[in-house]
Amino acid sequence: MSIWVEIAEKIKQIYPSKDFLPLHEPTFLGNEIPYVNECIETGWVSSVGKYVNKFEDSLADYAGVKRAVAVVNGTAALHIALKTVGIQPNDEILIPSLTFIATGNAVSYCGATPHFVDVSKTTLGIDPKKLKDYLNEISILKNNVCINKFTGKVIRAIVPMHTFGHSVDLDHLIEVCEQYNLILIEDAAESLGTYYKGKHTGSFGKVSAMSFNGNKIVTTGGGGAILTNDEKLADYAKHLTTTAKVPHPWKYEHDDIGYNYRMPNINAALGLAQLEKLDSFIQNKRNLVNKYIEIIENYSGIEIFIEPSFSKSNYWLQTILIDDQQHSIENALEILNQLGIMSRPAWTPLHKLAPYKNCPKSDLSVTEKLFKQIVNIPSSPYLGE
Ligand SMILES: *Cc1c(COP(=O)(O)O)cnc(C)c1O
Repeated sequence: MSIWVEIAEKIKQIYPSKDFLPLHEPTFLGNEIPYVNECIETGWVSSVGKYVNKFEDSLADYAGVKRAVAVVNGTAALHIALKTVGIQPNDEILIPSLTFIATGNAVSYCGATPHFVDVSKTTLGIDPKKLKDYLNEISILKNNVCINKFTGKVIRAIVPMHTFGHSVDLDHLIEVCEQYNLILIEDAAESLGTYYKGKHTGSFGKVSAMSFNGNKIVTTGGGGAILTNDEKLADYAKHLTTTAKVPHPWKYEHDDIGYNYRMPNINAALGLAQLEKLDSFIQNKRNLVNKYIEIIENYSGIEIFIEPSFSKSNYWLQTILIDDQQHSIENALEILNQLGIMSRPAWTPLHKLAPYKNCPKSDLSVTEKLFKQIVNIPSSPYLGE
């Protein structure tokens, strides 16, 4: 019997009453219905209502930042995060190639160019050591501005992403940012509830972005947020995401080209109820990793990805790493999916995709290797109960 059939059967035993296990399903066991009902009963479902402020305050409090600005999705949060820190057309922005396409698209929406850098196999996020060597080779500092020697463009910022809820090596990354005068913007879309050395991810960058899409650890249906400790940046983000309307009791005056990115009240109501349950989701996900380790540890050439020593991870998506010399990842995906264990490879690295294949990039050998090894497996909180 194929080992994947065996593994699928063991995974099924975690939750025998379901014959299909999705990759990540939301759980609504708290105040979701009363809060959402209240929006409907009072009519405040859209751009006005108390839940947006409540959700923002509760989120900022949880993440240990001064402010959170709720928006329609994580991609919009990234877009505005980049705009508020002054990303200019023609800037180059360092991002991992191993990420969801939103990270690259948000850079493009600003007219800037993604510049891909490699990841580390211990974090699955940007590798600071490799980044430092690379910048040393390809860039020069002119008046404390980092310039790409080959393209002549300004390398303005870096957007690390905390892959599957595991923190990148922030101390070393921040050192590189200081040396090269790069603005740090965290793509914390996957890492709500993840701490780096005791401090919440998303609180290190000048500004950060989160997502509350249906498959994330906390969902608002669709949604996102911009996090920052800078009150002025937060006010600016709020202004830009609410069509840049100048406050007035009745006049329509707009002082900038803004965006209609505000999170509706009904979504914030759902999100507030979800946040109340976040600690239990994380606890369950941290239990689930141990169940998976027990199942997988007996097979050679397959391992469960474990949080880096400095990260207390939310384990948003459980990850197996397959030694591609010993096993075929295609085979694993085929059999697990067929047997009702929803499984997915990592995102196709962005530098391989049509819109991004001509962007500047460093050696991406670890990214390409990991892409051949990563399979995400069912990760819903109830599996860890
Ligand atoms: C989910 C996600 C986003 C944002 O996605 P939305 O669907 O727009 O909320 C951004 N970056 C990463 C890495 C993500 O996983």
